[in-house]
Amino acid sequence: MDFETLCIHPVKKIKDAAGAIATPIYQSATFAHPGLDESTGYDYTRQQNPTREQLEYVVAGLEGADDAIAYASGMAAITVFMELFAPGDHIVAADDLYGGTHRLFGCISSKNGLVFSYAETTQQIIAAVRPETKAIFLETPTNPMMRVFDIAAVAEAVRGRDILVIVDNTFLTPYYQKPLLLGADVVVHSGSKYLSGHNDTLAGILCIKGTALAEKLRFITKTTGSALAPFDSFLLIRGIKTLAIRMDRQQQTAIRIAEWLSEQKQIATVNYPGLRTHPDYELSNRQASGFGAMISFSVKDAGLVSRVLGRVNVIRYAESLGGTETLITYPMLQTHADIPESERLRKGIDNRLLRLSVGLESTSDLIADLAQAIESL
Ligand SMILES: *Cc1c(COP(=O)(O)O)cnc(C)c1O
Repeated sequence: MDFETLCIHPVKKIKDAAGAIATPIYQSATFAHPGLDESTGYDYTRQQNPTREQLEYVVAGLEGADDAIAYASGMAAITVFMELFAPGDHIVAADDLYGGTHRLFGCISSKNGLVFSYAETTQQIIAAVRPETKAIFLETPTNPMMRVFDIAAVAEAVRGRDILVIVDNTFLTPYYQKPLLLGADVVVHSGSKYLSGHNDTLAGILCIKGTALAEKLRFITKTTGSALAPFDSFLLIRGIKTLAIRMDRQQQTAIRIAEWLSEQKQIATVNYPGLRTHPDYELSNRQASGFGAMISFSVKDAGLVSRVLGRVNVIRYAESLGGTETLITYPMLQTHADIPESERLRKGIDNRLLRLSVGLESTSDLIADLAQAIESL
């Protein structure tokens, strides 16, 4: 079946005697056992819950994973993944990561004895691998500069070694990019973004290749207790039903906005992999079937930033991305505030850079809103 159909009708489904079309919300902490040594398959919601299980079937199916596990947030999912490692283990990470992931690695995982190397390009990632390397953590396209890593090249370079390749696929979702099929071992999602799609809940997902690795991660999950609640699982199941159509429309609008921004005299640069001028346009085209709907851009005059953030009207000045509402952020002060200044500036995350998550409003309303926000006084 095609992706659009699998978003609505997953191959694997939980049992439901009533024939409910929408997945029921099993708001129960615990489940009764029919008798000694007998089980319905469920005992306590920290370990399994039918609503969450249905969500996990849906996402595993879309990513081509053997298993998927849903968490209370994207950061909770990444935190559980990091519990696989022991002091002294070395991890190579892309350096243009989501700010929260950067903070987790730098402030918590490092304190626990894990050692990190950061690299900027696919070649540098491969070159940074050492004998004690246990994982490679990629986010592609990156946030907020929208650079693209070659997932297949990285996976190929470490094939046959005991090194897990994990890809944060939040920006493109499996609709546009399937890292497991390109050779990665684990995919992580912030389900708070495109998967739920309505800016109304937090969630995270790990999608895992191989049942042995999935078992290890399920053990850590039930022990540490950050699994997604039944109601939030329901919201994600509902959101994913419209994933394909939302991504299509959001991308279509993003392309038009990226082109429009490129033509404005107040704008210095536009970072969007769907523009032919983007340095990773070719790789992006080869690796993914779409470019997504995230754009970052630099204004020529830093003084314009506060005016834009204060003047946007349809577009809201708020963190997060991937939802129905178009949001604009100032990475320097928000998502990337914890990154040391010299590193931030080297990457181009300066006082002139803004990030736009294109939502589902009409293209002309969004362009009109941007036009009035950037026009000279
Ligand atoms: C938001 C985000 C996260 C963290 O997810 P939360 O659900 O906010 O905890 C991780 N990676 C990326 C790329 C994100 O955009």
